[in-house]
Amino acid sequence: MQLSIISGGTCGSNPSTHAGRPRLTTSFGIIRGTDGIIIDNGSGVQNVVRHLQKEKVERVLMLQSHLHADHTDGLPQNSYLFQNKVPVMGIWVPKCEGADFRTVWEQRFTPHIWPVRPETFGIAMPAQYTLGSDLSNVGFLPLGITTLRLNHPGGSVAYRIPHERGDIVIATDHEPTGETNAAYASFVGGAQLLIADLQYRDSEYNGEVGIGDGPAMKRVGWGHATPKLLAEALSGCQPLPKEVWITHHDPNRTAGDLDDFESEVYTFFDGLGINVTAFAGDGEVNEI
Ligand SMILES: [Zn+2]
Repeated sequence: MQLSIISGGTCGSNPSTHAGRPRLTTSFGIIRGTDGIIIDNGSGVQNVVRHLQKEKVERVLMLQSHLHADHTDGLPQNSYLFQNKVPVMGIWVPKCEGADFRTVWEQRFTPHIWPVRPETFGIAMPAQYTLGSDLSNVGFLPLGITTLRLNHPGGSVAYRIPHERGDIVIATDHEPTGETNAAYASFVGGAQLLIADLQYRDSEYNGEVGIGDGPAMKRVGWGHATPKLLAEALSGCQPLPKEVWITHHDPNRTAGDLDDFESEVYTFFDGLGINVTAFAGDGEVNEI
């Protein structure tokens, strides 16, 4: 069964304005046989949709990690929402603090934000399946997909998508802690591929230095990882994921700073025997 992954956008927080580096916000696509799975609707979703259309997937399933703007700002660019030739089977979304997906849908498609909406063309919002805060209703999830609640302000979830060539885990927004590490390690352990958050250097997280020309400030509690935090979270895995792709790079990094950070990440994880690939380009496609 075919298995390819498209990284539509891997920039965290908001689209970056720095030239020469990936700039679009979070969206990933997986082609699993004839199914297309879209994970998140950041501005990178336009790359994901283009690729799934080129590969002529026969149906689309949408998973949403959470509702922050950098994971939903591309909804109007998701052209699968404006057609009914290729069925969109549903969107699976966690209940997040203070909002559900319907609220975000109404915000993104209100006329002062975007001029037209799917309903303008007689197309309804896809069926929505809400994952409760205790994830008790995960029976709604298709294809044997499982989920884990992550540590992120407002709430976020990781998805584990099974495949005969090995499972894929997407955990885009997570700040590892001593309380969450055991459950995280058991959820991601043994995966073929883990896509994991790595927004900050440890020195940036601890407030010793700023990012780019920004001021130094503590970023504890902002919901994102550092090399040290991610290594601690992975240390309990039995076994480790075979590959780890790092995502959610900070938009304030210049191209040069992002290159430097990537080199530091490779050196750090090489020493721990963890197979890491850093920060895919916008629209990059990889076969597994
Ligand atoms: Zn977020």
